[in-house]
Amino acid sequence: MSEQQHYEFFKVIQDYVDQASKIANLPPHVTSILSQPKNELIVHFPVRMDNGETRMFKGYRIQHNNVLGPYKGGMRYHETVTLDDLKALAAMMTWKCALMEIPFGGGKGGVKMNPRELSSNELMRVTRRFTHALGSNIGPEYDIPAPDVGTNAQVMAWMMDTYMNTVGHVEKNAQKRVVTGKSLACGGSRGREKATAQGLIHCITEWADEKNFKLEGKTAIIQGFGNVGGNTGLLLSKLGVSTIAVGDHSGYLSNPEGFNSHKLADHVKQHGSIAGYEAGHSITREEFFATKADLFLPAALENQVGIAEAKMLQVRMVGEGANGPCTPEGEKILLQRGIDILPDVLANSGGVTVSYYEWVQNKRSETWDLEEVDTKLEIAMKRGYHRTSTYAREHSCSMRVAAYALALQNIAAAYAERDIFP
Ligand code: GLU
Repeated sequence: MSEQQHYEFFKVIQDYVDQASKIANLPPHVTSILSQPKNELIVHFPVRMDNGETRMFKGYRIQHNNVLGPYKGGMRYHETVTLDDLKALAAMMTWKCALMEIPFGGGKGGVKMNPRELSSNELMRVTRRFTHALGSNIGPEYDIPAPDVGTNAQVMAWMMDTYMNTVGHVEKNAQKRVVTGKSLACGGSRGREKATAQGLIHCITEWADEKNFKLEGKTAIIQGFGNVGGNTGLLLSKLGVSTIAVGDHSGYLSNPEGFNSHKLADHVKQHGSIAGYEAGHSITREEFFATKADLFLPAALENQVGIAEAKMLQVRMVGEGANGPCTPEGEKILLQRGIDILPDVLANSGGVTVSYYEWVQNKRSETWDLEEVDTKLEIAMKRGYHRTSTYAREHSCSMRVAAYALALQNIAAAYAERDIFP
């Protein structure tokens, strides 16, 4: 999607860590420990394709840090997956969990491939062989995968089932929480599917309250219309905010009257993208970014808002549903132009927060009502938002650096008391 070529995502994250470490006065040894992941796993595994041929796949799992709890984070199926990007994304999971005071560390993994080119059976066999190749490098108290770009509840069900079948019969049912983001039928949590979008919405409403900005009657543009983007569109419409332009891997569409998010989300479920949706006309990527609206919600991939896009955007606020959508150069311009940014580690942390609720429910053999999940998430997101916004104000730094600083402080406190072995 991005026209920019080489993007050193892990270095970008590292720079934010350095900035936040200075403000938070972090002991240098903690910053050094966090500057590299603990484990970087690469596996190669064969899969029999539908045409009878065998194809080799490359899979990854990065385990960034587990000082606060088991490694936690999504599995990404995408053709652009690289070790460097996954290192950045794994580190961001560490900050997300620490910021939200969830007793998990950070991890991320995936397979380099285009899942759209595979049949459902092939996707299942890739998932099962990948899970098998990872073996005991994942586990319910060790490293807990979840959905990310290109994966969903179905992929999690295959992953869980494969993992469960590698342990003895007696322990089988205790393994369900080896993954989160499962369907309800497989032991998932109510409210997990919309959780990332719901968390983003809580941040948006808190931001609007803080800025005395009335959301009703306002407009938004959304990049990515999968789980996060689609649910964000739906929840925004409930607040009276209309989505007037959308985009995904297939292109961009505009509808000044506002899209019917339900119909558009159904179309994406049926056809795999926004392409061919009738109630909208095709626009270019540039036209999308230049659309005058109140909110921009990137909900696709990293590295989407560089210098050019930051100059083009005509919005009041950018809420990062995706991980790393704004480059540091892009962010600088947005902030100079008075456009607020709700940073990813805060804004999209609703997903992992409800993943934690799912894990706790599995561990306790409980099933919570949607209301209970929603209420807990709302309290957690509002607390996260206000802690970040207060820190940013008190230390005259950006919301992003504030979120990093708060996360790093929690991790540093654990290192200070536990010290380093031996
Ligand atoms: N992939 C999501 C994220 O980037 C969710 C991770 C999880 O639930 O563990 O936050």
